[in-house]
Amino acid sequence: MAEQFDAVVIGGGPGGYNAAIRLGQLGLKSACIDSRGRFGGTCLNVGCIPSKALLFASERFEEAKTEFAKIGIRCEVSLDLPGMMKQKDKVVGELTKGVEFLLKKNKSEAIVGTAKILSPGKVEVTGADGSTRILETKNIIIATGSEVMPLPGVTPDETRIVTSTGILALKAVPKRLLVVGAGVIGLELGSVWRRLGAEITVVEFLDRITPGLDNEVGKQFQRILTKQGMKFQLSTKVVGVDAKGPALKVTVEPAAGGAPQVIETDVMLVAIGRRPYTAGLGLVEAGVTLDTKGRVITDTHYKTNVPGIWAIGDCREGPMLAHKAEDEAVACAERIAGRAGHVNYDAIPSVVYTMPEVASVGKTEEELKAAGVAYKIGKFPFTANARAKTIVSTDGFVKILADAATDKVLGVHIIGPEAGNLIAEATLAMEFGASSEDIARTCHAHPTLTEAVRQAAMGVEGWTMQM
Ligand SMILES: Cc1cc2nc3c(=O)[nH]c(=O)nc-3n(C[C@H](O)[C@H](O)[C@H](O)COP(=O)(O)OP(=O)(O)OC[C@H]3O[C@@H](n4cnc5c(N)ncnc54)[C@H](O)[C@@H]3O)c2cc1C
Repeated sequence: MAEQFDAVVIGGGPGGYNAAIRLGQLGLKSACIDSRGRFGGTCLNVGCIPSKALLFASERFEEAKTEFAKIGIRCEVSLDLPGMMKQKDKVVGELTKGVEFLLKKNKSEAIVGTAKILSPGKVEVTGADGSTRILETKNIIIATGSEVMPLPGVTPDETRIVTSTGILALKAVPKRLLVVGAGVIGLELGSVWRRLGAEITVVEFLDRITPGLDNEVGKQFQRILTKQGMKFQLSTKVVGVDAKGPALKVTVEPAAGGAPQVIETDVMLVAIGRRPYTAGLGLVEAGVTLDTKGRVITDTHYKTNVPGIWAIGDCREGPMLAHKAEDEAVACAERIAGRAGHVNYDAIPSVVYTMPEVASVGKTEEELKAAGVAYKIGKFPFTANARAKTIVSTDGFVKILADAATDKVLGVHIIGPEAGNLIAEATLAMEFGASSEDIARTCHAHPTLTEAVRQAAMGVEGWTMQM
């Protein structure tokens, strides 16, 4: 006799496990299935969490080596790479166990195995030992996430030619690291290994780094990373790699065509993006429609074209971010429970966890121009912020874009210390439909980095006071 559920969630990443938690809170019986053997998905196992653990540790290493002397601390520093990796693995282990605990607490059955949709309402799970179980359910939530986008003609071996997974577990610091792709993942992971001693060259097909960022912020970001020692080859594409010798020989060409050039490197990181993962799920057989990029098509309430089958997170459209998956999970679970869950896609922040950090929410200046929206700008540099001075971290600025007629905040872009935390204020302001004046007239503690946000907001109406 098949087991009965209100909802079966396929995938145990931020989309899947948060859906299961919310379903449990709403009194619905669910199961959450993941094939990985550990819950938490890409994010906890091979994404956000291990990368941030290494970013934190490598930042402290570099700081101790080069920055401490500036504040009167002398020390001798050496790298213990196995120790750094052990700490990263410890954090991942604790957090993935934490997800299992949360599933249990919310009465969701955590099942390890590979799920396949046999028909709407019926899911087969195959365990590692080949045993199968059939689950019957009123609802199926597809939360199978994404996988690394392959580079044509290049096969990763995860030791010398690595993806974002292999680079998180290198056994030694390479002398030279070639990063293919100047997106968030390439720049974060390139930063980790640069701080630990590798020479970094970043090859990017486009003529700019981090294409989604506000242009002005992107340019400043590239200047800062260059000053830190990263080399950039923009408008360049990788056309092949010869891995026969002790060094990798990577052939690159101008993106628009032209004479090839060979770059020698010890390790090459392929970080050209991610694509939705729905292989082997039985979606086509179940009649679920995918778009041309392989993403599951849903309506704004996460319903696919097949009644009772829903999709959330990286496997559907929108930014591939853990918190976007989490928000969709909450809204989808609430819809299944008959409530009015909703996600505001105009207020989803994104962060690059380099040093300094880069964070943004809402529209860029280029997007506003393209849409013909009249806007005003307020800007404030961290060089003029007292707290930034005291922590010796003054690179960057805050930029606020507000509607010229109504003063409503349309976008906030920050490059600077703690930008990833500072953006929360802007996101909340936008969620509440705030004006720049609302931020400017809100009391901000002194001396904090948040004062830079306030001063930028004052700047929208031309009354920045501390500059
Ligand atoms: C290096 C790196 C760094 C990142 N850093 C950040 C960051 O700082 N901030 C941020 O917001 N995002 C970050 N991301 C992106 C983030 O990890 C994803 O957006 C997020 O994990 C998506 O969540 P999800 O639940 O949709 O999918 P996933 O986390 O990918 O989870 C899907 C799960 O489904 C499982 N699965 C797939 N098919 C089946 C099946 N048939 N049966 C059973 N299980 C199945 C998979 O094994 C996987 O565990 C990063 C990604 C990478 C690679």
